Amino acid sequence: MLNLILFGPPGAGKGTQSQKLIEKYQLVHISTGDLFRAHIKNQTELGKQVSSLIANGELVPDQITIAMLEEEIDKNPDAKGFVFDGFPRTIPQAEELDKFLESKGSEICGVIALDVDQDELLKRIAIRQKESGRADDEADKSKKRIDEYFNKIILVLPYYEAQQKLTKINGIGDIEDIFGQICGVMDQY
Ligand code: AMP
Repeated sequence: MLNLILFGPPGAGKGTQSQKLIEKYQLVHISTGDLFRAHIKNQTELGKQVSSLIANGELVPDQITIAMLEEEIDKNPDAKGFVFDGFPRTIPQAEELDKFLESKGSEICGVIALDVDQDELLKRIAIRQKESGRADDEADKSKKRIDEYFNKIILVLPYYEAQQKLTKINGIGDIEDIFGQICGVMDQY
């Protein structure tokens, strides 16, 4: 299986690049943010449980997030591989993902981290907010989510660096150029 983690702050282009990757490599895209938003839209129990956390730009507890992710993996038994987008965001999530994939005789092949500076992220999210209307993309919330990334979520990267699975790519520039660089890394897996 070809399992990739696309890592990076909000607004780095993970969603855009994931779409291109799943088309080219025939993989299944799992975005925990998209899954939560679908639960909220459909007013499921889980959606009700997490909606205020998400609207405030706070992380959903690990246990809830991990259970949702594992259920989504299990829904795709014939997948050639997965692109994980927005997961893991904590070390316990990363450890659990490793264990879960191992139990299926699989593993993470690599982690690609998109590097984008904070000013550029704020600009991009402001544009996205106008298009999507996402409450957590409003200026104060997006600043909070970006801070959370650089203060906490980024601490997941050494976990993968220690496994020699991490590649950093500059996420500023032409979308096709960045995609080309990601494919260059994918083709080595
Ligand atoms: P995203 O679309 O990836 O920016 O995620 C939107 C929101 O969903 C985040 O700000 C969190 O509130 C929640 N979320 C998504 N993925 C995770 C995760 N792996 N762990 C905890 N919360 C998450």
